Amino acid sequence: MDALIETRDLTRHYPSGEGVVAALEGVNVSMRPGEFVAAMGPSGSGKSTFLNLIGCLDQPTRGSYRLAGEEVGTLSPERLAALRGEKIGFVFQSFHLLPRSDALSNVMMPMLYRGIPPKIRRERAEMALERVGLASRMHHTPSQLSGGQQQRVAIARALVCGPELLLADEPTGALDSRTGLEIMALFQALNRSGVSILCVTHDPDVAAFAGRTLRFRDGRLFEDETHPPVDAAAMIGVPFA
Ligand code: ADP
Ligand code: MG
Repeated sequence: MDALIETRDLTRHYPSGEGVVAALEGVNVSMRPGEFVAAMGPSGSGKSTFLNLIGCLDQPTRGSYRLAGEEVGTLSPERLAALRGEKIGFVFQSFHLLPRSDALSNVMMPMLYRGIPPKIRRERAEMALERVGLASRMHHTPSQLSGGQQQRVAIARALVCGPELLLADEPTGALDSRTGLEIMALFQALNRSGVSILCVTHDPDVAAFAGRTLRFRDGRLFEDETHPPVDAAAMIGVPFA
């Protein structure tokens, strides 16, 4: 099957004083559709730089990145934004929800400027919230939800346009360990339903739920290991999603 992600010599330099910081240097990696991959490494190792490039939020200084066969490095900003909206959903450590909007409105947000009729927008948002187990919380605002529930809203928002790839930057970083486990069980259920996932984490216990771990150091990918994933739902002790 064709690769979903394929990078060749992917490199991002930032200017710094006289010289440059090599935030990412010469990364070759490919990811097949349906994979669940963790990206690990100490602070400053290039994880976020890598995720931003893969998410089409940034462009490389050098090298090539193909997303679903399309070369990203040479796209116009408009085409880049369109590709991002079509193929990718983002989840962050700190949820990034609109505080005064209820869960349903938050999830409808990404569909606002896409010419989708309001009724369809609403139906899709309701389905996405059901998918993350929040059918009964659609009219709660973020402050009326727990941290884990807020992250579920953010995941529903990431899913609502039907992305092939979910990108997560420390998605359990603001949650207690039990709630983090529930979020990883949800990720595993989504992955089984066909969503590819790339998850940045500094926590080996979180990376263990993926089927493959990329390890970064000083901007370089120095290890790429495939491993059997730990079953998060089994660790919670209840069937999930
Ligand atoms: P991580 O997410 O693993 O902590 P980052 O990708 O954020 O690492 O950063 C990698 C390196 O690139 C660090 O040395 C960081 O200081 C540098 N860096 C990241 N973003 C910028 C930027 N916008 N300008 C200058 N240097 C940057
Ligand atoms: Mg980072």
